[in-house]
Amino acid sequence: MSGAKVTSVIRVTTLSLLCFAVTVSSPVAQSRPGDTLDIYVIDVEGGEATLFVAPSGESMLVDTGWPGFDGRDADRIAAVAEQAGVTQIDYLVVTHFHTDHMGGTEQLANRLPVVHFIDHGITIDQGDRARAAFEVYSNLRSNGTHRVVRPGDPVPVTGLDVRIIASDGSVLNSPLAGAGDANPFCEGFTFHGADITSRFGDAEDQRSVSAFIGFGRFRTLIMGDLTWNKEHALMCPDNKIGTADLYLVSHHGSDTSGSEALVHGLQPRVAVMNNGPRKGGAVQTFQILQAAPSLEQLWQNHYAIPAGDEYNMPERFIANLQDEAPTQDTPAVHMEAAHGIKVSARRDGSFTVTNSRNGFSRSYGPRN
Ligand SMILES: [Zn+2]
Ligand SMILES: [Zn+2]
Repeated sequence: MSGAKVTSVIRVTTLSLLCFAVTVSSPVAQSRPGDTLDIYVIDVEGGEATLFVAPSGESMLVDTGWPGFDGRDADRIAAVAEQAGVTQIDYLVVTHFHTDHMGGTEQLANRLPVVHFIDHGITIDQGDRARAAFEVYSNLRSNGTHRVVRPGDPVPVTGLDVRIIASDGSVLNSPLAGAGDANPFCEGFTFHGADITSRFGDAEDQRSVSAFIGFGRFRTLIMGDLTWNKEHALMCPDNKIGTADLYLVSHHGSDTSGSEALVHGLQPRVAVMNNGPRKGGAVQTFQILQAAPSLEQLWQNHYAIPAGDEYNMPERFIANLQDEAPTQDTPAVHMEAAHGIKVSARRDGSFTVTNSRNGFSRSYGPRN
């Protein structure tokens, strides 16, 4: 979402609290280091930043969180990278040019080298602040290699099958290998119409770079803030993606994305939502997820205040709990303690999800 006014107080981030220590309590045998695709859903207080580390050691970071706050989000990303043994970002995918996705790039680049920049081209936003933020990013990407991607393009992370499925408002026009079956969840799809374009048709959001990531039989995808209507283009009438074991919940869990056609059509077994306390985490999103016939578990990066206890998962599945009442001046709580959700995926399609706050983890076997 664009235009969020971040006026929160700045406090020191205690990096020692940002720990992705894995406490495994599952019957599934653990792989040796280097045998797993590790996915770190990093808490950037309602922005997005997700780090993928391939068994080859190559890294792909999707989005960089917010700017400001003394480099809070870049610090958090750098701390996770260090834990993961990542010394440079091999591929930085900036899904779109909103501040909560692109904003931390400059501060991150001061902490970790970024080799390849991948995005959808140029911003569509015309506001002075948006243009200025884009200029900063644009200068940074000229320091590395820069590639504008289109649907169907690969991202050559060694050991992974990363394929762009949407970019700059276009989506795949032919299905991924093995996909393309009719999607029964398209029935009743309601388009978000032009009369509510300002809310549902945000020009940058609908240009989000989205990617499919395959690792052996394990399948997931990441979509930035891709909008509801674009989901229809991807998933209807034929499902061009196929299934996803893990659904990284689109658009922070906002109700301007996350249709049944997408969420039920992917048949995810597990979903991880990178929401903030008051960002995303919409009631409708919880309802659609909870109604997904295939879904075994939803994990959350934050307790979603507007959804309340009726919809939020039990605490053990939530990385950051709500323990401080937000005010107008301090909308972003948990600034001193940032926890996250880690997913370790194996080639056979099995995976383990861990909550870094409490070390609680659960493993999921290969899809039948
Ligand atoms: Zn956005
Ligand atoms: Zn966003």
